[in-house]
Amino acid sequence: MRKHYTVEGNNHTYPTLALCDRCVKDYVVISEGERTYDDCEKCGEDD
Ligand SMILES: [Zn+2]
Repeated sequence: MRKHYTVEGNNHTYPTLALCDRCVKDYVVISEGERTYDDCEKCGEDD
């Protein structure tokens, strides 16, 4: 299952990414958003 997460990016940016529950562990999460069926933007999971 994937959700949109606002994460801490480079140079004080805060991108919102669709991430699966495995890949989100690699990010510093600022806020957690809605569940999504978008592919994971890191590993491409799309089940
Ligand atoms: Zn992933």
